Amino acid sequence: MAFPLQGDDAARHTPPTPIPDPYWVAFSKSCAELIDIPLANNDLPTDHKWLELLSGNSLETESNQFTAPIASAYSGHQFGVWAGQLGDGRAILLGDIANQELQLKGAGKTAYSRMGDGRAVLRSSIREFLCSEAMHSLGIPTSRALAVVGSKMPVIRETRETAAVCARVAPSFVRVGHFEHFASLQNTERLKELADDLIAKHYPDCRNSKIPYLELFKSISSRNATLVAQWQAVGFCHGVLNSDNISALGLTIDYGPFGFLDQFQIDHICNHSDHSGRYAYHRQPQVMHWNMACLASAMLPLIELSHSDEEAQTLLRSALEEFPITYAAAWQKSFRDKLGLHTSEEADIELIERLLQLMHDSRVDYTTLFRSLGNIDKSTLVKDIALRDHFIDRDGIDLWLKDYLTRLAKESLGDEARRTIMNTVNPKYVLRNHLAQHAIELAQQDDFSEVHKLLNILNKPFDEQPENESYSQAPAEHLQSISVSCSS
Ligand code: AMP
Ligand code: MG
Repeated sequence: MAFPLQGDDAARHTPPTPIPDPYWVAFSKSCAELIDIPLANNDLPTDHKWLELLSGNSLETESNQFTAPIASAYSGHQFGVWAGQLGDGRAILLGDIANQELQLKGAGKTAYSRMGDGRAVLRSSIREFLCSEAMHSLGIPTSRALAVVGSKMPVIRETRETAAVCARVAPSFVRVGHFEHFASLQNTERLKELADDLIAKHYPDCRNSKIPYLELFKSISSRNATLVAQWQAVGFCHGVLNSDNISALGLTIDYGPFGFLDQFQIDHICNHSDHSGRYAYHRQPQVMHWNMACLASAMLPLIELSHSDEEAQTLLRSALEEFPITYAAAWQKSFRDKLGLHTSEEADIELIERLLQLMHDSRVDYTTLFRSLGNIDKSTLVKDIALRDHFIDRDGIDLWLKDYLTRLAKESLGDEARRTIMNTVNPKYVLRNHLAQHAIELAQQDDFSEVHKLLNILNKPFDEQPENESYSQAPAEHLQSISVSCSS
């Protein structure tokens, strides 16, 4: 809700730059409902001015006026290195609507564009749109996407592509990078405004704490620890966990070269440009913790307002130590749920880790494997369990299945009831790269039907949808290694 800071050092007034002849590429009915946009029978806004607004060609609809569009300044660590000032290089915050912020990504240059053109291409806009809405339907905190608007305006990346604007929605787009920005400028007054605003709007419970700013840090860190556990559980790799891409609300933001795991590989790297594997699947929790350390050091001056240097450091250091504890608890809960274990035993962790190791060794498809675990009945014989065929190490998976059946026998829920619950945590449908790629290739020829179809499928990721069975399947071999770079 409304960017908290006024003044040129924090944000610049930035009207979007128009694009020629905009058209709808995709529109999310569910996001529109969130912000109370009246829709016609075709599930597009009744008010035609929305297309002009979301393309950046106008600042008003019949019922909304966005008089103060801004781009905000932030800084950050990129790939572990301090990158200095970044800022909204191509994101323009239009303003508030129904308690959410509405932002256009790719709506032209801003004061923070540096060498960039301020634009986004159709390809990356479709990916951000579909994944934002897919993550929401998976129950994972995320910024939302309202629409993608396209134009024939050329945009040069590795090749010539066309422009698009993705309209994003979130209660706040404040990032760790906003804190780092004012900390690096040693501007404690600004840091305080930022923190006070977050507490007032999004973390009101912090006010009841003895040290509200410390509580704010703990809350942000805890949300991000839980978030990354949810990513691990669903097999999502963000791809660019730079501190400027980490939300102060614990939302998944800034979708770029992300990927859902197909074949499970613990050290899978989804971003083609991530040569060292800094943001590989198994490193995400550590890297999020590292980002929280960046936040802690940026917030240090706030704790020092009421405590000595040394006390403040000790307080933040011990708050930071809560991250791995929160993460581990959330991870264990998520994976117990994925296995249908509703009671908890110490040995469950070893059972989960053994399964992941076996999946890694045989490169088993992540989503279909977890989904199929729900089909196992307590009384089944190991030799009759179809999923064992996916593993090369037969003895290993047979022993695991035997132990799993023994463990399941201790659960009081019947097979049907357990299956129903497991099917609410193990999705059938995720945004696999090859599905997004196919939809993008058609969209690049002006056929948006596959984008719409994917949005509909991914809106109900836990439903069986027999008519869409093929969308749940692992990609064919030649589609497994689609590489996604930072270029967007
Ligand atoms: P990202 O890698 O998308 O998180 O972007 C890092 C920084 O570069 C952010 O400040 C972006 O706003 C900015 N940026 C990325 N692409 C562009 C672009 N095409 N034009 C201007 N700024 C950009
Ligand atoms: Mg970013």
